[in-house]
Amino acid sequence: MFLSGKTALITGSTSGIGLAYAKALAVEGANIVINGFGDPDAIETERKGLEAASGAKATYSGHDLSKPDQIEAMMKEAAEAFGGVDILINNAGVQHVAPVEEFPVEKWDLIIALNLNAAFHTSRLAIPYMKSKNWGRIIQTASAHSLTASPFKSAYVTAKHGLAGLTKTLALELATHGITANCISPGYVWTPLVEKQIPDTMKARNMTKEQVMNDVLLAGQPTKQFVTAEQVAAMALYLCRDEAAQITGANMSIDGGWTAQ
Ligand code: NAD
Repeated sequence: MFLSGKTALITGSTSGIGLAYAKALAVEGANIVINGFGDPDAIETERKGLEAASGAKATYSGHDLSKPDQIEAMMKEAAEAFGGVDILINNAGVQHVAPVEEFPVEKWDLIIALNLNAAFHTSRLAIPYMKSKNWGRIIQTASAHSLTASPFKSAYVTAKHGLAGLTKTLALELATHGITANCISPGYVWTPLVEKQIPDTMKARNMTKEQVMNDVLLAGQPTKQFVTAEQVAAMALYLCRDEAAQITGANMSIDGGWTAQ
Protein backbone atom coordinates (compact mmCIF):
# COMPACT_ATOMS: atom_id res chain seq x y z
CA MET A 1 0.00 0.00 0.00
CA PHE A 2 2.31 2.72 -1.25
CA LEU A 3 -0.10 5.59 -0.45
CA SER A 4 -0.55 4.79 3.27
CA GLY A 5 -0.34 8.01 5.28
CA LYS A 6 -1.14 10.18 2.23
CA THR A 7 -4.37 12.08 1.64
CA ALA A 8 -5.97 12.41 -1.79
CA LEU A 9 -8.71 14.89 -2.59
CA ILE A 10 -10.56 14.15 -5.80
CA THR A 11 -13.06 16.69 -7.09
CA GLY A 12 -16.17 15.38 -8.84
CA SER A 13 -15.71 11.87 -7.50
CA THR A 14 -19.28 10.74 -6.85
CA SER A 15 -19.43 9.14 -10.30
CA GLY A 16 -17.54 8.29 -13.45
CA ILE A 17 -13.79 8.85 -13.71
CA GLY A 18 -13.55 10.60 -10.32
CA LEU A 19 -15.01 7.64 -8.48
CA ALA A 20 -12.61 5.31 -10.32
CA TYR A 21 -9.67 7.47 -9.13
CA ALA A 22 -10.97 7.33 -5.54
CA LYS A 23 -11.23 3.53 -5.65
CA ALA A 24 -7.77 3.09 -7.19
CA LEU A 25 -6.08 5.34 -4.62
CA ALA A 26 -8.00 3.81 -1.71
CA VAL A 27 -6.75 0.34 -2.63
CA GLU A 28 -3.24 1.73 -2.06
CA GLY A 29 -4.12 2.95 1.43
CA ALA A 30 -4.72 6.69 0.96
CA ASN A 31 -7.15 8.76 2.98
CA ILE A 32 -9.70 10.00 0.46
CA VAL A 33 -11.83 13.12 0.24
CA ILE A 34 -14.59 12.64 -2.30
CA ASN A 35 -16.65 15.50 -3.66
CA GLY A 36 -19.59 15.97 -6.00
CA PHE A 37 -23.34 15.72 -6.18
CA GLY A 38 -25.68 12.75 -6.08
CA ASP A 39 -27.94 10.57 -3.99
CA PRO A 40 -26.78 10.79 -0.33
CA ASP A 41 -27.30 7.07 0.37
CA ALA A 42 -25.35 6.04 -2.72
CA ILE A 43 -22.52 8.44 -1.80
CA GLU A 44 -22.41 7.10 1.76
CA THR A 45 -22.20 3.53 0.42
CA GLU A 46 -19.25 4.53 -1.79
CA ARG A 47 -17.56 6.38 1.11
CA LYS A 48 -17.80 3.32 3.36
CA GLY A 49 -16.49 1.13 0.52
CA LEU A 50 -13.43 3.37 0.21
CA GLU A 51 -12.68 3.02 3.92
CA ALA A 52 -13.08 -0.76 3.70
CA ALA A 53 -10.64 -0.86 0.77
CA SER A 54 -8.02 1.47 2.26
CA GLY A 55 -8.22 0.74 5.97
CA ALA A 56 -7.88 4.55 6.20
CA LYS A 57 -10.38 7.43 6.36
CA ALA A 58 -12.72 8.65 3.65
CA THR A 59 -14.77 11.82 3.93
CA TYR A 60 -17.35 13.42 1.67
CA SER A 61 -17.60 17.09 0.75
CA GLY A 62 -20.73 18.17 -1.12
CA HIS A 63 -19.48 21.66 -1.93
CA ASP A 64 -20.29 23.27 -5.28
CA LEU A 65 -16.90 23.87 -6.90
CA SER A 66 -18.18 26.43 -9.36
CA LYS A 67 -18.05 28.81 -6.36
CA PRO A 68 -14.65 29.92 -4.95
CA ASP A 69 -15.96 30.35 -1.38
CA GLN A 70 -17.21 26.76 -1.39
CA ILE A 71 -13.85 25.54 -2.68
CA GLU A 72 -12.19 27.34 0.24
CA ALA A 73 -14.61 25.64 2.66
CA MET A 74 -13.83 22.20 1.18
CA MET A 75 -10.07 22.72 1.38
CA LYS A 76 -10.38 23.99 4.96
CA GLU A 77 -12.37 20.91 5.98
CA ALA A 78 -9.76 18.64 4.38
CA ALA A 79 -6.95 20.46 6.20
CA GLU A 80 -8.81 20.13 9.51
CA ALA A 81 -9.43 16.40 8.98
CA PHE A 82 -6.05 15.38 7.55
CA GLY A 83 -3.60 18.28 7.96
CA GLY A 84 -3.62 18.90 4.22
CA VAL A 85 -3.84 17.30 0.81
CA ASP A 86 -0.87 15.39 -0.65
CA ILE A 87 -2.57 14.37 -3.88
CA LEU A 88 -4.98 16.76 -5.57
CA ILE A 89 -6.98 15.48 -8.51
CA ASN A 90 -8.99 18.18 -10.28
CA ASN A 91 -11.65 16.20 -12.05
CA ALA A 92 -15.08 17.84 -11.57
CA GLY A 93 -16.42 18.93 -14.91
CA VAL A 94 -19.56 19.50 -16.92
CA GLN A 95 -20.23 19.78 -20.62
CA HIS A 96 -22.68 21.67 -22.82
CA VAL A 97 -23.07 21.24 -26.55
CA ALA A 98 -24.33 24.15 -28.69
CA PRO A 99 -23.16 26.43 -31.52
CA VAL A 100 -21.23 29.49 -30.27
CA GLU A 101 -23.92 31.99 -31.25
CA GLU A 102 -26.55 30.01 -29.32
CA PHE A 103 -24.32 29.02 -26.39
CA PRO A 104 -26.12 29.99 -23.16
CA VAL A 105 -23.99 32.55 -21.32
CA GLU A 106 -24.67 30.93 -17.94
CA LYS A 107 -23.43 27.57 -19.30
CA TRP A 108 -20.25 29.22 -20.56
CA ASP A 109 -19.67 30.79 -17.14
CA LEU A 110 -20.36 27.51 -15.31
CA ILE A 111 -18.01 25.46 -17.50
CA ILE A 112 -15.16 27.97 -17.15
CA ALA A 113 -15.76 28.22 -13.38
CA LEU A 114 -15.89 24.48 -12.74
CA ASN A 115 -13.66 22.94 -15.42
CA LEU A 116 -10.93 25.60 -15.21
CA ASN A 117 -11.14 28.15 -12.39
CA ALA A 118 -11.77 25.51 -9.69
CA ALA A 119 -8.40 23.88 -10.48
CA PHE A 120 -6.65 27.22 -9.87
CA HIS A 121 -8.39 27.63 -6.51
CA THR A 122 -7.82 24.07 -5.25
CA SER A 123 -4.18 24.23 -6.38
CA ARG A 124 -3.40 27.57 -4.72
CA LEU A 125 -4.94 26.28 -1.48
CA ALA A 126 -3.23 22.86 -1.58
CA ILE A 127 0.29 23.96 -2.53
CA PRO A 128 1.51 25.42 0.82
CA TYR A 129 0.98 22.04 2.57
CA MET A 130 2.59 20.12 -0.31
CA LYS A 131 5.59 22.46 -0.16
CA SER A 132 5.88 21.90 3.60
CA LYS A 133 6.14 18.14 2.90
CA ASN A 134 8.40 18.59 -0.11
CA TRP A 135 6.09 16.13 -1.88
CA GLY A 136 2.88 16.48 -3.83
CA ARG A 137 0.95 15.40 -6.87
CA ILE A 138 -1.44 17.60 -8.83
CA ILE A 139 -3.31 15.69 -11.50
CA GLN A 140 -5.90 17.22 -13.81
CA THR A 141 -8.47 15.31 -15.75
CA ALA A 142 -8.07 17.35 -18.90
CA SER A 143 -9.28 15.79 -22.14
CA ALA A 144 -8.37 15.18 -25.75
CA HIS A 145 -10.13 18.54 -25.97
CA SER A 146 -7.13 20.10 -24.18
CA LEU A 147 -5.15 19.31 -27.34
CA THR A 148 -7.69 19.57 -30.15
CA ALA A 149 -11.15 21.05 -30.73
CA SER A 150 -14.56 19.78 -31.79
CA PRO A 151 -17.43 21.96 -32.99
CA PHE A 152 -20.20 22.98 -30.56
CA LYS A 153 -18.02 22.57 -27.45
CA SER A 154 -16.52 26.06 -27.24
CA ALA A 155 -16.59 26.47 -23.46
CA TYR A 156 -15.32 22.96 -22.76
CA VAL A 157 -12.47 23.17 -25.30
CA THR A 158 -11.50 26.59 -23.96
CA ALA A 159 -11.52 25.40 -20.34
CA LYS A 160 -9.51 22.26 -21.09
CA HIS A 161 -6.89 24.11 -23.14
CA GLY A 162 -6.63 26.57 -20.23
CA LEU A 163 -6.22 23.71 -17.78
CA ALA A 164 -3.32 22.36 -19.85
CA GLY A 165 -1.65 25.79 -19.67
CA LEU A 166 -2.21 26.10 -15.93
CA THR A 167 -0.69 22.65 -15.45
CA LYS A 168 2.50 23.49 -17.35
CA THR A 169 2.87 26.65 -15.24
CA LEU A 170 2.33 24.71 -12.01
CA ALA A 171 4.94 22.17 -13.10
CA LEU A 172 7.54 24.89 -13.61
CA GLU A 173 6.75 26.75 -10.38
CA LEU A 174 6.79 23.57 -8.27
CA ALA A 175 9.61 21.69 -9.99
CA THR A 176 12.11 22.03 -7.14
CA HIS A 177 9.59 21.22 -4.39
CA GLY A 178 9.02 17.52 -5.08
CA ILE A 179 5.60 18.35 -6.50
CA THR A 180 4.56 17.26 -9.98
CA ALA A 181 1.64 18.60 -12.02
CA ASN A 182 0.30 16.69 -15.00
CA CYS A 183 -2.77 16.38 -17.18
CA ILE A 184 -4.41 13.11 -18.06
CA SER A 185 -6.29 13.54 -21.32
CA PRO A 186 -8.84 10.86 -22.05
CA GLY A 187 -10.73 10.44 -25.27
CA TYR A 188 -14.32 9.31 -24.88
CA VAL A 189 -14.92 7.44 -21.63
CA TRP A 190 -18.36 5.92 -21.15
CA THR A 191 -19.65 7.89 -18.11
CA PRO A 192 -22.79 9.91 -17.26
CA LEU A 193 -21.09 13.04 -18.72
CA VAL A 194 -20.89 11.43 -22.17
CA GLU A 195 -24.31 9.82 -21.97
CA LYS A 196 -25.91 13.18 -21.09
CA GLN A 197 -24.52 15.00 -24.14
CA ILE A 198 -26.05 12.57 -26.62
CA PRO A 199 -29.51 14.26 -26.82
CA ASP A 200 -27.98 17.74 -27.39
CA THR A 201 -25.59 16.40 -30.00
CA MET A 202 -28.52 14.64 -31.73
CA LYS A 203 -30.23 18.04 -31.86
CA ALA A 204 -27.16 20.10 -32.83
CA ARG A 205 -26.19 17.71 -35.65
CA ASN A 206 -29.64 16.37 -36.55
CA MET A 207 -28.58 12.78 -35.95
CA THR A 208 -29.94 9.57 -34.37
CA LYS A 209 -28.42 8.21 -31.15
CA GLU A 210 -26.57 5.48 -33.07
CA GLN A 211 -25.16 8.06 -35.50
CA VAL A 212 -23.92 10.18 -32.56
CA MET A 213 -22.25 7.16 -30.93
CA ASN A 214 -20.55 5.85 -34.08
CA ASP A 215 -20.13 8.90 -36.33
CA VAL A 216 -19.35 11.55 -33.68
CA LEU A 217 -18.10 10.03 -30.42
CA LEU A 218 -16.14 7.06 -31.75
CA ALA A 219 -15.51 8.55 -35.20
CA GLY A 220 -12.31 10.21 -34.03
CA GLN A 221 -11.19 7.37 -31.80
CA PRO A 222 -9.25 5.00 -34.08
CA THR A 223 -9.58 1.99 -31.74
CA LYS A 224 -13.40 2.36 -32.04
CA GLN A 225 -13.71 1.62 -28.34
CA PHE A 226 -14.55 3.79 -25.36
CA VAL A 227 -11.77 4.32 -22.81
CA THR A 228 -12.66 2.89 -19.37
CA ALA A 229 -12.61 4.95 -16.18
CA GLU A 230 -10.35 2.29 -14.65
CA GLN A 231 -7.75 2.78 -17.39
CA VAL A 232 -7.70 6.51 -16.59
CA ALA A 233 -7.41 5.81 -12.85
CA ALA A 234 -4.46 3.46 -13.44
CA MET A 235 -2.54 6.36 -15.03
CA ALA A 236 -3.26 8.59 -12.02
CA LEU A 237 -1.99 5.89 -9.69
CA TYR A 238 1.21 5.63 -11.73
CA LEU A 239 1.71 9.40 -11.54
CA CYS A 240 1.58 9.13 -7.73
CA ARG A 241 4.50 6.67 -7.66
CA ASP A 242 8.09 7.67 -6.98
CA GLU A 243 8.93 6.22 -10.41
CA ALA A 244 6.91 9.11 -11.88
CA ALA A 245 8.78 11.84 -9.99
CA GLN A 246 10.35 13.18 -13.21
CA ILE A 247 7.06 13.28 -15.09
CA THR A 248 5.85 16.85 -14.71
CA GLY A 249 4.19 19.33 -17.04
CA ALA A 250 3.13 16.41 -19.22
CA ASN A 251 -0.18 15.82 -20.93
CA MET A 252 -0.81 12.08 -20.93
CA SER A 253 -3.21 11.04 -23.69
CA ILE A 254 -5.43 8.01 -23.18
CA ASP A 255 -7.56 8.40 -26.25
CA GLY A 256 -7.38 5.32 -28.46
CA GLY A 257 -5.21 7.26 -30.91
CA TRP A 258 -7.56 10.26 -31.33
CA THR A 259 -4.90 12.98 -31.05
CA ALA A 260 -2.33 11.00 -33.04
CA GLN A 261 -4.27 11.90 -36.19
P1 NAD B 1 -19.45 12.53 -14.51
O1 NAD B 1 -20.62 13.36 -14.90
O2 NAD B 1 -19.63 11.06 -14.29
O3 NAD B 1 -18.74 13.13 -13.22
C1 NAD B 1 -18.67 14.50 -12.95
C2 NAD B 1 -18.49 14.68 -11.48
O4 NAD B 1 -18.44 16.10 -11.20
C3 NAD B 1 -19.64 14.13 -10.63
O5 NAD B 1 -19.13 13.60 -9.43
C4 NAD B 1 -20.48 15.36 -10.36
O6 NAD B 1 -21.29 15.27 -9.20
C5 NAD B 1 -19.38 16.39 -10.18
N1 NAD B 1 -19.82 17.76 -10.30
C6 NAD B 1 -20.62 18.32 -11.26
N2 NAD B 1 -20.83 19.62 -11.00
C7 NAD B 1 -20.14 19.90 -9.86
C8 NAD B 1 -19.96 21.07 -9.07
N3 NAD B 1 -20.53 22.25 -9.43
N4 NAD B 1 -19.19 20.99 -7.96
C9 NAD B 1 -18.62 19.82 -7.59
N5 NAD B 1 -18.75 18.69 -8.29
C10 NAD B 1 -19.51 18.72 -9.41
O7 NAD B 1 -18.37 12.80 -15.65
P2 NAD B 1 -16.97 12.13 -16.04
O8 NAD B 1 -17.08 11.73 -17.47
O9 NAD B 1 -16.51 11.14 -15.04
O10 NAD B 1 -16.06 13.44 -16.02
C11 NAD B 1 -15.04 13.67 -15.10
C12 NAD B 1 -13.99 14.54 -15.76
O11 NAD B 1 -13.45 13.85 -16.87
C13 NAD B 1 -14.51 15.88 -16.29
O12 NAD B 1 -13.60 16.92 -16.01
C14 NAD B 1 -14.57 15.65 -17.79
O13 NAD B 1 -14.43 16.83 -18.51
C15 NAD B 1 -13.40 14.73 -17.98
N6 NAD B 1 -13.41 13.94 -19.20
C16 NAD B 1 -14.41 13.06 -19.44
C17 NAD B 1 -14.38 12.36 -20.62
C18 NAD B 1 -15.45 11.37 -20.96
O14 NAD B 1 -15.50 10.93 -22.12
N7 NAD B 1 -16.31 10.98 -20.04
C19 NAD B 1 -13.34 12.51 -21.55
C20 NAD B 1 -12.34 13.43 -21.24
C21 NAD B 1 -12.38 14.14 -20.07
